[in-house]
Amino acid sequence: IRVLICQGTGGLAAGAKPVEEAFQAEFDKHGVDAKVGKRCTLVGTGCRGLCANDVLVDIVIPGQAAVTYDFVKPEMVPQIVEEHILQGQVVEKKKAGPYYQKFLEKQMRVVFSRCGTIDAESLDDFLAMEGFSGIKKAVTMTPQEVIEEVKKSGLRGRGGGGFPTGVKWSFCAASPGKEKYLICNADEGDPGAFMDRSILEGDPYGLIEGMMIASYAIGAEFGYVYVRAEYPLAIKRLQKAIDVCYEKGFLGKNCLGLGFNFDLRIKAGAGAFVCGEETALMASIEGERGMPRPRPPFPAVRGLWTKPTNINNVETFANVSYIFYRGGDWFASIGTEGTKGTKIFALTGKVKHTGLVEVPAGITMREVIYDVCGGILNNRKFKAVQAGGPSGGCLPGEAIDAEVDYDSLIKAGAMMGSGGLVVMDETTCMVDIARFFLNFTRMESCGKCVPCRIGLKLMLDILERITEGRGQEGDIELLEDMCYDIKKASLCGLGQTAPNPVLSTIRYFRHEYEAHIHNQR
Ligand code: SF4
Repeated sequence: IRVLICQGTGGLAAGAKPVEEAFQAEFDKHGVDAKVGKRCTLVGTGCRGLCANDVLVDIVIPGQAAVTYDFVKPEMVPQIVEEHILQGQVVEKKKAGPYYQKFLEKQMRVVFSRCGTIDAESLDDFLAMEGFSGIKKAVTMTPQEVIEEVKKSGLRGRGGGGFPTGVKWSFCAASPGKEKYLICNADEGDPGAFMDRSILEGDPYGLIEGMMIASYAIGAEFGYVYVRAEYPLAIKRLQKAIDVCYEKGFLGKNCLGLGFNFDLRIKAGAGAFVCGEETALMASIEGERGMPRPRPPFPAVRGLWTKPTNINNVETFANVSYIFYRGGDWFASIGTEGTKGTKIFALTGKVKHTGLVEVPAGITMREVIYDVCGGILNNRKFKAVQAGGPSGGCLPGEAIDAEVDYDSLIKAGAMMGSGGLVVMDETTCMVDIARFFLNFTRMESCGKCVPCRIGLKLMLDILERITEGRGQEGDIELLEDMCYDIKKASLCGLGQTAPNPVLSTIRYFRHEYEAHIHNQR
């Protein structure tokens, strides 16, 4: 019997440790193993996705369907142990309601299949669920064949840009030179987004395996995982997994005895949003101030320490392992023509069940918000969703049937980004939302180039005067002009995309700007 207790950051914050202690005390009190004639194991897992309902506990009895309890508190544990584990009677009143089934129904948990199921710190648990079978398969192929398999899968970078991963790998593999680097960008900084953190906390070995496959394909013998320091649990679990891999000979010289070398270490970033930009991230690893550099040269040609470098984010590497467990064709059979596989979204804001969901690409926004996440809080009316983080765009109610894939979201005026979805209801002021996101990007601007450093500040001043009822005729047109100029003239992606929330709210909610300016609100 396994008792799975969600111990991601969300679960721990909700009190997972006292719940675990309560289970242990009950097990000791009743001598549970002897009474049920089976070994009862407490397993601290990664995130289950439904963070708003933590602490989540699954009771898994062989031959029976797993039963989930939500909002578990230590005082509920004696009843669960006595009735469910000892007498086989589910405590119906404390069980997660039918919504939990609905929450899972339309999801397709591939990258998350181990999160919430295994002990994230246990190598044995990882090995029992296909762990390292992907890299073992990859080394039976040539590096070029590995890259072709990733191309065949159709995997596109999950960090935001959506560039085809196999093509990206081929650039770095083709760059001359023996010394190459591999970087995992785990500098997840969008407000409301925490999918990469959950993968690191719930399946750190899966990320290591994805990076091993990439290192073999590209010929990079050294890798970094650049993680923001605000993710202490993710860093702790990943470091533990890296240490275990070195102890077992899975990392370093002759990885897993498979004939290739790969060293991996963590670099903790100090939490600057701009360090998610590839060239700023590399500057930070090199010990410089995290500021973007002009491109070209691109990292695949001249990257970390001037050597060819390949950078992907956490979710991208995590997908790679599954491509080699099940094949590129299998992966390509999921999703839409332009977006293959699944995508993890972080749902926050005015939605009933906030948390992380993994869905096949191509599902509609309506299905994600209503079917998976239960609809709008307090049954209010859906107004808009901010897709793609502070650099994305606000989509209105009419766009709720848009498919969530790279191309449909861009067509609708937003972007997939790393997967943050902030849901808004009818009470939300869209000008204020634009002001909020612009304030975020303005504060995170590194200040290197004038359009971003000064332009965003001037735009913010205009937005502030509009929201404070001091708007002037011509402000909307001025904002639009500035948006296009800043997008065109900024050096890096932060400045180039920062105006998006303003542009999309003007596009879909212009009347709200006009109402503010004419003092009708
Ligand atoms: Fe820095 Fe902004 Fe220029 Fe990027 S666009 S380099 S964040 S000032």
